[in-house]
Amino acid sequence: MKSFPDADASSLDEILSNNRKWVEEKKAADPEFFHNLSKGQKPRYLFIGCSDSRVPASAITGTGPGEMFVHRNIANLVVHSDLNLLSVLQYAVEVLGVKDIMVVGHYGCGGVAAAASNKQFGLIDNWLTNIKDVVRLHETEFTGIADKDQQLRRLVELNVIEQVRNLTKTNVIQSALQRPNPPRLHGLVYDINDGLLHNLNVETSAAINEFQHIYGIEDVKHAEQVAEQAQQGKVSQGADL
Ligand SMILES: [Zn+2]
Repeated sequence: MKSFPDADASSLDEILSNNRKWVEEKKAADPEFFHNLSKGQKPRYLFIGCSDSRVPASAITGTGPGEMFVHRNIANLVVHSDLNLLSVLQYAVEVLGVKDIMVVGHYGCGGVAAAASNKQFGLIDNWLTNIKDVVRLHETEFTGIADKDQQLRRLVELNVIEQVRNLTKTNVIQSALQRPNPPRLHGLVYDINDGLLHNLNVETSAAINEFQHIYGIEDVKHAEQVAEQAQQGKVSQGADL
């Protein structure tokens, strides 16, 4: 039977050394830095990005500890059956009260490129099917772009737009829209060639509201009234809510 390789003490030396250096720097700038952070978190942002090592959430946004809640997966997908994403989203919105949620894609995304191909990669193919669905939704535009690089760049953008739309379909966001000051949703693309983040202005486009008649939920007050009437026997069971 094969055993796990022995942990080589030196393999983590650099990481631990970097950590100690960072701690000293933070303490030098603010002796109370870690004490203050230990009291709790109230981040303003939720970042949903790709797992790609070239897209470090804090570094590209200039945010520090305590400022941004983060969820990352391959190709920054918002999948309705992904309990991990949904748990992060619910906690961020309903407990932490984040003000801005950003889906951040990036040009040169391997996941997007893999999905655009017809090659097999194993288990991950099932995950990447979500991006193939984006191609299907935008097939005319996608196939109309002759240049392959441009085609992939556009697919990265379309994928971000669709993932922001997917956020709006969740009960977490739909419920938040019923309350004052719901979080704002943003779609961004990071360019690994020059380090710049670009705002796709998804929120200000019709992209979010376009399908609200399908995914939106009824006004809470109305639903409460109907429930109250049902309790008083004024509406028969199974009434159309
Ligand atoms: Zn990626």
